[in-house]
Amino acid sequence: MKIPENKSLKVEAPIILQDKLMSTGPNAGSSKISQSYTGYLVSSTNRLNFRISIDPSIAAFTNEINDAISIWNGVPESGISFSIVSSGTFDIVIVNQAINGYGLARIPLNGNAGNLVRINTQNIINDGLNPNQMSTVIAHELGHSIGFRHTDWEGVESFSGTDDVGKPGDALDVPNAAGTDVGSIMNMGANNILPNGLSTKDILALVNLYPLGTPKINGTGILRANKTYTFTTTYVWPNSVIDWSINGKPASISFANGQGTGTLTVNVNNNVGEYSEDLELLAKMTSNNRNYIILSKYIILQGSKCK
Ligand SMILES: [Zn+2]
Repeated sequence: MKIPENKSLKVEAPIILQDKLMSTGPNAGSSKISQSYTGYLVSSTNRLNFRISIDPSIAAFTNEINDAISIWNGVPESGISFSIVSSGTFDIVIVNQAINGYGLARIPLNGNAGNLVRINTQNIINDGLNPNQMSTVIAHELGHSIGFRHTDWEGVESFSGTDDVGKPGDALDVPNAAGTDVGSIMNMGANNILPNGLSTKDILALVNLYPLGTPKINGTGILRANKTYTFTTTYVWPNSVIDWSINGKPASISFANGQGTGTLTVNVNNNVGEYSEDLELLAKMTSNNRNYIILSKYIILQGSKCK
């Protein structure tokens, strides 16, 4: 089945997000099947960790949601990550609701992810989908939340439209990910029977829209006596821990705090005498699904004559 025609063909109707994924291939009416996105992406800071709240209505399917998250988190070259939060602030809430079809998701605007994913678990169960297939449906909806359109939209859905709360979205080609992609998780059809989650081009599209940034250490290069300095890292990998160190750290330097975070506070204690010492500040960044990386910054510790 494809999405209901009354939902897909009216420009004013929600454009993209009414999903019932039961066919065994991309939509038969599609004239092109290639990676597409709305033109609106999540900002570089917000994308590092999409916090997902699981509504009590769908708590029974927490395993399936975790598996859906793993599909996206399993691409180490991408700069996005999803995690589940049990309280506090969240970016996306997933609810179980008796919508038409299997799923409905909002799309990004103003640098934020689409904040609502609705899953009709009853429809999914009634149609006999297994847990793995339900995970794929949820992962497909999360793809909309971060800006993906249907790969097989052309000829079936309008180029421009809105989601259910009026956020605009077009259907732009994803840069550097051209070509037919019948196995895309973002096709309207086929998704619930995909054996391996993301297609090769899904991964390519994800990495091109949301590349993993190159982290760096920021802060002053010259440290002087009796002062406190703060070093930060930019573009910390999702879910990473940072272990700071200074090569051959002199006794006159101490770390006030910041171990295991993106910020390090350094105290330079009193030292007497005039000297200059070259040191190297290191930050070993370790992430749960990536190899570690060691960031480096050369610093100079300068003594002074103050007594
Ligand atoms: Zn969809």
